[in-house]
Amino acid sequence: MSEVTPVPIGPDRVTTDHEIVVRSPYDGSEIGRVPACGAEEVDLAVASARAQFVPVAAGADPVPAHERAAILDRGAALLDQRREQFARTIAAEAAKPLKTARVEAGRAVDTFRFSAAEARTLAGDVVPLGASAPGVGKLGFTLRVPIGVVGAISPFNFPLNLVSHKVAPAIAAGCPLVLKPASQTPLSALALATLLLDECGLPPGWLNVVTGSGGDVGDALVTHDDVAMITFTGSPDVGWSIRARAPRKKVSLELGNNTPVIIEGDGDWRGAAAKLKVAGFSHAGQSCISSQRLYVHRSVHDDFVAALVDEVGSLVVGPPLDDATDVSALISSRETERVKDWIDLAVAAGAKVAVGGDVGGDGVLRPTVLTGVTPEMKVCSAEVFGPVVGVAAYDDLDEALALANDTRYGLQAGIFTSRLDAALAAARRLDFGGVVVNEVPTWRADQQPYGGVRDSGNTREGPHYTVREMTEVRLVVMQG
Ligand code: NAP
Repeated sequence: MSEVTPVPIGPDRVTTDHEIVVRSPYDGSEIGRVPACGAEEVDLAVASARAQFVPVAAGADPVPAHERAAILDRGAALLDQRREQFARTIAAEAAKPLKTARVEAGRAVDTFRFSAAEARTLAGDVVPLGASAPGVGKLGFTLRVPIGVVGAISPFNFPLNLVSHKVAPAIAAGCPLVLKPASQTPLSALALATLLLDECGLPPGWLNVVTGSGGDVGDALVTHDDVAMITFTGSPDVGWSIRARAPRKKVSLELGNNTPVIIEGDGDWRGAAAKLKVAGFSHAGQSCISSQRLYVHRSVHDDFVAALVDEVGSLVVGPPLDDATDVSALISSRETERVKDWIDLAVAAGAKVAVGGDVGGDGVLRPTVLTGVTPEMKVCSAEVFGPVVGVAAYDDLDEALALANDTRYGLQAGIFTSRLDAALAAARRLDFGGVVVNEVPTWRADQQPYGGVRDSGNTREGPHYTVREMTEVRLVVMQG
């Protein structure tokens, strides 16, 4: 039996009477224990975060911007040094193959570096008041003021980098926070918090962690009067229910997608097939921008499918901590059953399995390519969040753009084409938060504005954008 990792709340390291056992999604082995917190711990955590504002209101600046930037730089440097250690924790708790987990750990370093840059440069604007007659003689400018205590709720699929996308910008913005990581993957978040508090000089109370179920701890955080903002990444149903339960708070939502990719006849379809081997199956498709719906021009459809099947057939399925593994288990056996069920439903409705489609003796769903998918099938209309891509043929670009846009989601979409007019048509007409040309829409850099429209969310994440969400604009007018 493993030891309980206590959670940091203010200066204390807290345990509770009840525990959550963290298990490997691959083989069910125990890999850690964390406290099962409740509303009482949320109250303590929010109070210790809020206490950080007392000296600010009294005119002091106990952690000025240059110190916050230095803390973030130290965080980046230590994360960089310990990439392998963090990658192993991610792999163990999320069943993310080690090679993919290493990429995530490296991206978290970037997220901290970009946040440090924001801490150093965040500033308001000068307002040209003299541009209107009543403003003549007045000087106007804005300050960026921390919004208050931030409540951060994160998902299981990027247990380090998506936590970093909330923690690091909050530090940059000057907002103490309370973090509730996903119950399945709390260990990377706790290791990050320990690193920041014990080794980087982040003062106690600036980062408080409450582990526990979404229904208890998450809800207590969402409805707490002293939390000014909720930043949430996770599923659309939970995200929009949080929005409804916290009408007076700022609520930033990063939600799901059923990512479309258009492959034109003149595009580099061979290169696209090679990239989709990763983009459709990395972390077994459990990425919010996993490439899911592939619309392929009929002139190259059959050749493309053959190339994709070759690529996908070469993926290595195995344990997450094995260096050779490309695809491992989904987060739970229930998720494996759900995704398998969606494959079976698609086949019953006329889709064909080009490769995969079954669950191996190790309980891992094999990487699957379906052809002949249609919009009503769940593998098209909903977010699969599993190792499945569906291919459909189209005849002209207008049809492909309409198919791609036929979704309640709107995070990122992509097109492969060698024609400038087709690329520009896609950029103008694909109704998504991001349009990616000649690259898979699963691609993301941590400084970009990342986020969606419609059911995919209501914000943009990326340190530059997140610190603006986490600060209020305060106007100052001075009469000369
Ligand atoms: P989830 O089930 O919505 O859980 C996300 C977080 O919300 C977890 O910490 C969960 O806690 C918590 N939660 C659950 N119910 C809650 C409630 N009633 N009140 C407050 N918090 C609650 O999502 P997931 O399965 O972890 O992640 C997969 C989803 O995230 C997919 O839809 C994916 O597309 C999306 N995602 C989006 C992005 C993006 O940036 N747009 C990035 C990654 C993932 P428990 O763990 O305790 O249940």
